[in-house]
Amino acid sequence: DPRVRGIAAAIRVVPDFPKPGIMFQDITTLLLDPDAFKNTVDMFVERYTDMDISVVAGIEARGFIFGPPIALSIGAKFVPLRKPKKLPGEVISENYDLEYGSDCLQMHVGAVQPGERVLIVDDLVATGGTLRAAISLLERVGAEVVECACVIELPELKGRERLDGKPLYILVESH
Ligand code: 5GP
Repeated sequence: DPRVRGIAAAIRVVPDFPKPGIMFQDITTLLLDPDAFKNTVDMFVERYTDMDISVVAGIEARGFIFGPPIALSIGAKFVPLRKPKKLPGEVISENYDLEYGSDCLQMHVGAVQPGERVLIVDDLVATGGTLRAAISLLERVGAEVVECACVIELPELKGRERLDGKPLYILVESH
């Protein structure tokens, strides 16, 4: 798809952020380019229209940028998967390991019904630990995870292999 080149070009790579040795993929520059941002959302919308998806679940924080416009366009509800102690209602939690320490995602109980078909959205997949936790949360409430969608994949980290066989759709690979 010819739009991918413009999307990739709009993502800024920042060396040594947030720590030495990390090549941070900065999507804020993609948001400054209305054509590239629109093409990003359009490519996901084209893929997920008519796939009977009723829920877009976005991962805090950058999944909250790409998820809602996709949800509105395909006629799905948007459900935020948040870091701990942000959601005011009753939550279910999924803990997951990071390189150093651990993290947690939470979702409001009742936001997703058993049997609903869900698309999980985030900006980037690295080790896959975050998406794996999101998949687990949704499956624990009986939802069907149709696919995970990210703008960027770091294929060397093999995150795709940690998703319990769930399909992963990405627009840009970064090496
Ligand atoms: P993983 O759990 O796959 O190792 O890491 C993915 C999560 O970390 C995503 O929520 C993503 O937003 C964040 N992340 C890790 N590295 C980067 C990066 O280079 N750029 C951006 N934008 N997010 C990153």
